[in-house]
Amino acid sequence: MFAYQESLERVDLAFSDRHDGESTGPWASLNLGASNGDDGETVARNLRAAVQALGGDPERAWLMRQVHGRDVHVVTGDDPARPAPEADALVTSVPGAVLVVRVADCVPVVLADDRAAVVGVVHAGRKGVVLDVATAAVEAMRALGAGEIRAWVGPRACGRCYEVPETMRDDVARQVARTWSETRWGTPALDLPAGVAGQLQAAGVEVHDLADDHAMCTIEGEKDYFSYRRQGERSGRLAGLVRVRG
Ligand SMILES: [Zn+2]
Repeated sequence: MFAYQESLERVDLAFSDRHDGESTGPWASLNLGASNGDDGETVARNLRAAVQALGGDPERAWLMRQVHGRDVHVVTGDDPARPAPEADALVTSVPGAVLVVRVADCVPVVLADDRAAVVGVVHAGRKGVVLDVATAAVEAMRALGAGEIRAWVGPRACGRCYEVPETMRDDVARQVARTWSETRWGTPALDLPAGVAGQLQAAGVEVHDLADDHAMCTIEGEKDYFSYRRQGERSGRLAGLVRVRG
Protein backbone atom coordinates (compact mmCIF):
# COMPACT_ATOMS: atom_id res chain seq x y z
CA MET A 1 0.00 0.00 0.00
CA PHE A 2 2.61 2.51 1.07
CA ALA A 3 6.21 2.78 -0.12
CA TYR A 4 6.76 5.15 2.77
CA GLN A 5 4.68 6.26 5.75
CA GLU A 6 5.44 8.50 8.69
CA SER A 7 3.45 9.93 11.58
CA LEU A 8 4.58 13.12 13.30
CA GLU A 9 3.06 14.71 16.41
CA ARG A 10 0.07 16.11 14.52
CA VAL A 11 0.56 15.05 10.90
CA ASP A 12 0.32 11.75 8.98
CA LEU A 13 1.94 11.39 5.57
CA ALA A 14 2.54 8.60 3.06
CA PHE A 15 3.44 7.73 -0.52
CA SER A 16 1.62 4.84 -2.16
CA ASP A 17 3.12 2.00 -4.18
CA ARG A 18 1.22 -0.24 -6.63
CA HIS A 19 0.30 -3.01 -4.19
CA ASP A 20 -2.89 -3.97 -2.29
CA GLY A 21 -5.45 -2.40 -4.66
CA GLU A 22 -8.28 -3.84 -6.76
CA SER A 23 -7.26 -2.81 -10.29
CA THR A 24 -6.07 -5.40 -12.80
CA GLY A 25 -3.99 -5.47 -15.99
CA PRO A 26 -1.61 -2.54 -16.49
CA TRP A 27 -3.22 -0.80 -13.48
CA ALA A 28 -2.58 -3.66 -11.04
CA SER A 29 -3.27 -3.03 -8.47
CA LEU A 30 -3.43 0.21 -6.44
CA ASN A 31 -4.06 2.58 -9.33
CA LEU A 32 -5.18 5.96 -7.94
CA GLY A 33 -5.74 7.81 -11.25
CA ALA A 34 -8.89 7.67 -13.38
CA SER A 35 -7.81 9.24 -16.67
CA ASN A 36 -5.88 6.24 -17.97
CA GLY A 37 -8.61 3.80 -19.01
CA ASP A 38 -9.07 2.05 -15.67
CA ASP A 39 -12.55 1.55 -14.22
CA GLY A 40 -13.63 4.67 -12.30
CA GLU A 41 -15.40 2.83 -9.48
CA THR A 42 -12.41 0.59 -8.92
CA VAL A 43 -10.13 3.61 -8.76
CA ALA A 44 -12.51 5.25 -6.26
CA ARG A 45 -12.31 2.14 -4.05
CA ASN A 46 -8.52 2.18 -4.30
CA LEU A 47 -8.48 5.83 -3.26
CA ARG A 48 -10.74 5.14 -0.30
CA ALA A 49 -8.48 2.30 0.80
CA ALA A 50 -5.36 4.47 0.59
CA VAL A 51 -6.93 7.33 2.55
CA GLN A 52 -8.18 4.91 5.21
CA ALA A 53 -4.75 3.31 5.46
CA LEU A 54 -3.44 6.77 6.35
CA GLY A 55 -6.10 6.95 9.06
CA GLY A 56 -8.14 9.52 7.13
CA ASP A 57 -11.79 9.90 6.18
CA PRO A 58 -12.27 9.20 2.43
CA GLU A 59 -15.12 11.74 2.35
CA ARG A 60 -12.57 14.41 3.21
CA ALA A 61 -9.96 13.59 0.57
CA TRP A 62 -8.98 16.52 -1.67
CA LEU A 63 -7.83 15.68 -5.17
CA MET A 64 -6.57 18.10 -7.84
CA ARG A 65 -7.06 18.38 -11.56
CA GLN A 66 -3.33 18.71 -12.22
CA VAL A 67 -2.39 20.84 -15.22
CA HIS A 68 1.40 21.37 -14.91
CA GLY A 69 0.87 24.93 -13.68
CA ARG A 70 1.84 27.02 -10.66
CA ASP A 71 -1.56 27.47 -8.99
CA VAL A 72 -1.93 26.50 -5.34
CA HIS A 73 -5.39 25.72 -3.98
CA VAL A 74 -5.86 26.63 -0.32
CA VAL A 75 -8.24 24.16 1.34
CA THR A 76 -10.38 25.99 3.89
CA GLY A 77 -13.66 24.08 4.17
CA ASP A 78 -14.60 20.65 5.48
CA ASP A 79 -16.15 19.27 2.28
CA PRO A 80 -13.93 18.67 -0.75
CA ALA A 81 -14.82 20.81 -3.77
CA ARG A 82 -16.54 18.96 -6.64
CA PRO A 83 -15.22 19.00 -9.24
CA ALA A 84 -11.74 18.96 -7.80
CA PRO A 85 -9.89 22.29 -8.05
CA GLU A 86 -7.57 22.87 -10.99
CA ALA A 87 -4.17 23.23 -9.33
CA ASP A 88 -0.76 21.60 -8.91
CA ALA A 89 -0.48 22.11 -5.17
CA LEU A 90 -2.85 21.92 -2.22
CA VAL A 91 -2.20 23.41 1.21
CA THR A 92 -4.28 23.49 4.38
CA SER A 93 -4.43 23.96 8.11
CA VAL A 94 -7.85 22.29 8.38
CA PRO A 95 -7.65 19.22 10.63
CA GLY A 96 -8.91 16.06 8.96
CA ALA A 97 -8.60 17.27 5.36
CA VAL A 98 -6.56 14.70 3.41
CA LEU A 99 -4.50 16.24 0.59
CA VAL A 100 -3.66 13.97 -2.34
CA VAL A 101 -1.21 14.47 -5.22
CA ARG A 102 -1.15 11.88 -8.02
CA VAL A 103 1.85 11.09 -10.22
CA ALA A 104 3.50 8.61 -12.55
CA ASP A 105 7.14 9.75 -12.98
CA CYS A 106 6.55 13.41 -12.01
CA VAL A 107 7.84 14.40 -8.58
CA PRO A 108 5.36 14.18 -5.66
CA VAL A 109 6.21 16.35 -2.66
CA VAL A 110 4.58 16.32 0.77
CA LEU A 111 5.12 19.40 2.95
CA ALA A 112 4.48 19.82 6.67
CA ASP A 113 5.05 22.15 9.56
CA ASP A 114 4.16 19.73 12.34
CA ARG A 115 4.17 22.33 15.12
CA ALA A 116 1.95 24.81 13.26
CA ALA A 117 -0.15 21.95 11.82
CA VAL A 118 0.01 23.22 8.25
CA VAL A 119 0.49 20.76 5.38
CA GLY A 120 0.71 20.64 1.61
CA VAL A 121 1.24 18.48 -1.47
CA VAL A 122 2.90 19.41 -4.75
CA HIS A 123 2.89 17.94 -8.27
CA ALA A 124 6.18 18.89 -9.93
CA GLY A 125 6.84 17.64 -13.42
CA ARG A 126 9.18 19.28 -15.90
CA LYS A 127 6.93 22.31 -16.35
CA GLY A 128 6.18 22.55 -12.64
CA VAL A 129 9.89 22.65 -11.85
CA VAL A 130 10.46 25.41 -14.40
CA LEU A 131 7.50 27.33 -12.92
CA ASP A 132 8.73 26.58 -9.36
CA VAL A 133 5.35 25.41 -8.11
CA ALA A 134 7.10 24.03 -5.00
CA THR A 135 8.03 27.51 -3.78
CA ALA A 136 4.50 28.75 -4.50
CA ALA A 137 3.20 26.01 -2.18
CA VAL A 138 5.70 26.96 0.54
CA GLU A 139 4.61 30.59 0.34
CA ALA A 140 0.95 29.58 0.60
CA MET A 141 1.75 27.50 3.70
CA ARG A 142 3.58 30.43 5.29
CA ALA A 143 0.49 32.58 4.69
CA LEU A 144 -1.40 29.99 6.79
CA GLY A 145 1.09 30.33 9.63
CA ALA A 146 3.73 27.73 8.78
CA GLY A 147 7.26 28.44 9.99
CA GLU A 148 9.66 25.51 9.91
CA ILE A 149 8.54 23.45 6.94
CA ARG A 150 9.87 20.00 6.08
CA ALA A 151 9.49 18.31 2.69
CA TRP A 152 9.36 14.64 1.71
CA VAL A 153 10.15 13.86 -1.94
CA GLY A 154 8.58 10.58 -3.05
CA PRO A 155 8.59 8.02 -5.90
CA ARG A 156 9.48 9.59 -9.29
CA ALA A 157 11.64 9.12 -12.35
CA CYS A 158 15.27 9.58 -11.32
CA GLY A 159 17.84 11.76 -13.04
CA ARG A 160 19.70 8.75 -14.41
CA CYS A 161 16.58 7.43 -16.21
CA TYR A 162 14.61 10.51 -17.31
CA GLU A 163 15.98 10.90 -20.82
CA VAL A 164 15.08 14.05 -22.81
CA PRO A 165 16.25 15.70 -26.03
CA GLU A 166 19.40 17.78 -25.60
CA THR A 167 17.61 21.03 -26.43
CA MET A 168 15.06 20.36 -23.70
CA ARG A 169 17.78 19.60 -21.15
CA ASP A 170 19.55 22.82 -22.05
CA ASP A 171 16.36 24.85 -21.84
CA VAL A 172 15.31 23.51 -18.42
CA ALA A 173 18.82 23.52 -16.93
CA ARG A 174 19.30 27.12 -17.98
CA GLN A 175 16.37 27.98 -15.70
CA VAL A 176 16.96 25.40 -12.94
CA ALA A 177 20.64 24.45 -13.01
CA ARG A 178 20.41 21.42 -10.73
CA THR A 179 18.18 19.56 -13.18
CA TRP A 180 21.07 19.00 -15.65
CA SER A 181 21.74 15.29 -15.84
CA GLU A 182 22.86 12.38 -17.94
CA THR A 183 21.33 8.93 -18.21
CA ARG A 184 23.25 5.86 -17.09
CA TRP A 185 23.74 5.17 -20.81
CA GLY A 186 25.26 8.62 -21.44
CA THR A 187 22.46 10.60 -23.09
CA PRO A 188 20.87 13.93 -22.03
CA ALA A 189 18.54 13.72 -19.04
CA LEU A 190 16.79 15.85 -16.43
CA ASP A 191 17.01 15.35 -12.68
CA LEU A 192 13.69 16.84 -11.64
CA PRO A 193 13.88 15.72 -7.98
CA ALA A 194 17.23 17.49 -7.64
CA GLY A 195 15.66 20.62 -9.13
CA VAL A 196 12.70 20.53 -6.74
CA ALA A 197 14.94 19.85 -3.75
CA GLY A 198 17.08 22.85 -4.65
CA GLN A 199 14.04 25.10 -4.95
CA LEU A 200 12.70 23.93 -1.58
CA GLN A 201 16.05 24.43 0.14
CA ALA A 202 16.31 27.91 -1.33
CA ALA A 203 12.88 28.60 0.19
CA GLY A 204 14.18 27.58 3.61
CA VAL A 205 12.66 24.09 3.68
CA GLU A 206 14.42 21.02 5.10
CA VAL A 207 14.25 18.34 2.41
CA HIS A 208 14.08 14.58 2.94
CA ASP A 209 14.55 12.88 -0.40
CA LEU A 210 13.24 9.40 0.29
CA ALA A 211 15.41 8.08 -2.55
CA ASP A 212 18.41 8.57 -0.25
CA ASP A 213 17.29 5.53 1.76
CA HIS A 214 14.72 3.69 -0.38
CA ALA A 215 14.40 2.57 -4.01
CA MET A 216 12.17 5.34 -5.37
CA CYS A 217 12.69 5.45 -9.15
CA THR A 218 9.38 4.74 -10.89
CA ILE A 219 11.03 3.81 -14.19
CA GLU A 220 13.38 1.27 -12.60
CA GLY A 221 10.87 -0.01 -10.05
CA GLU A 222 8.44 -2.00 -12.18
CA LYS A 223 7.54 -4.32 -9.30
CA ASP A 224 6.54 -1.52 -6.95
CA TYR A 225 5.62 1.55 -9.02
CA PHE A 226 3.67 2.80 -12.01
CA SER A 227 5.58 4.73 -14.68
CA TYR A 228 4.28 6.74 -17.60
CA ARG A 229 7.61 6.40 -19.38
CA ARG A 230 7.53 2.63 -18.99
CA GLN A 231 3.77 1.99 -19.41
CA GLY A 232 2.50 4.86 -21.55
CA GLU A 233 -1.12 6.09 -21.62
CA ARG A 234 -2.34 3.14 -19.58
CA SER A 235 0.04 3.79 -16.71
CA GLY A 236 -1.47 3.73 -13.24
CA ARG A 237 -0.98 6.57 -10.78
CA LEU A 238 0.77 6.70 -7.41
CA ALA A 239 -0.05 9.25 -4.73
CA GLY A 240 1.42 11.33 -1.95
CA LEU A 241 -1.01 11.92 0.91
CA VAL A 242 -0.90 14.10 4.01
CA ARG A 243 -3.28 15.28 6.71
CA VAL A 244 -3.36 17.10 9.97
CA ARG A 245 -5.01 14.64 12.34
CA GLY A 246 -8.60 15.67 13.01
ZN1 LIG B 1 15.94 5.67 -12.40
